[in-house]
Amino acid sequence: MLKQVAEGVLVHESEFCQSNAVVVRGRAGVLLVDPGVLDHEMACLANDLRELDQPVVAGFSTHPHWDHLLWHARFGAAPRYGTARCAATVRARLSDAGAKARVAGLIPPDIVEQVPLDLLGRITGLPAETARIPWDGPEVRIVEHRAHAPGHAALLIEERGVLVAGDMLSDVLIPMLDVNGTADPIEDYLAALRLIEGVTGDVDVLVPGHGSVGRGDQARARIDQDRAYVHALRDAGVPADPRVGPSATFGKDWLPGVHERQLQQLHSRH
Ligand SMILES: [Zn+2]
Repeated sequence: MLKQVAEGVLVHESEFCQSNAVVVRGRAGVLLVDPGVLDHEMACLANDLRELDQPVVAGFSTHPHWDHLLWHARFGAAPRYGTARCAATVRARLSDAGAKARVAGLIPPDIVEQVPLDLLGRITGLPAETARIPWDGPEVRIVEHRAHAPGHAALLIEERGVLVAGDMLSDVLIPMLDVNGTADPIEDYLAALRLIEGVTGDVDVLVPGHGSVGRGDQARARIDQDRAYVHALRDAGVPADPRVGPSATFGKDWLPGVHERQLQQLHSRH
């Protein structure tokens, strides 16, 4: 079900990991950001858009992780964008014959049959330094950084007061660092938080890749919470973070051991 979170901005939430697909209405159709995960959910979103008489005119993937690179045939053949670095990463990781089997191995076994991989990752990279998504609708600013994944972009829809955060600023998942992808994952993450902090002044609605939509001062609160976590990780301290450990939201040991694994990887690097 589509829920409006701001004028002309709607969210479709997946039962997988509370993933949020974001729909932005434009003049001739919609921009679809991180379309979803399960086949029947994307089909449901396609139905909703058909009922609204809104074709998909552009897509965008916030970063090159499988759950943000999916697509459904019923969304049609609109161009699907990402940053140049995101697209290059997808090419490097997914162009060989064994790629889809490898990706299937990353998907939880209980849902893998429901995740359509045919159209996975067909991303067109926007030229480096592209400031805005090229499409006929409200201006969508690309805020590229190196936290979490190569070529990750947050999207700022300034005139609607909306920040689409990708896999940061979640209320259910701790920051997950790109531990092996950069020379200094801690500093890259902190730099990204500063960058995002610099553009969130007028943001009223925060849509994370996974978790609940935040309103008002939530954007600031979640920046502070992510930063405190990353500081604790850097200093090998114990994070006082409700997102570590069994998840209140998912009712089980969600992504077990992510914190311990990051801690171990980061502190055995040198
Ligand atoms: Zn991710």
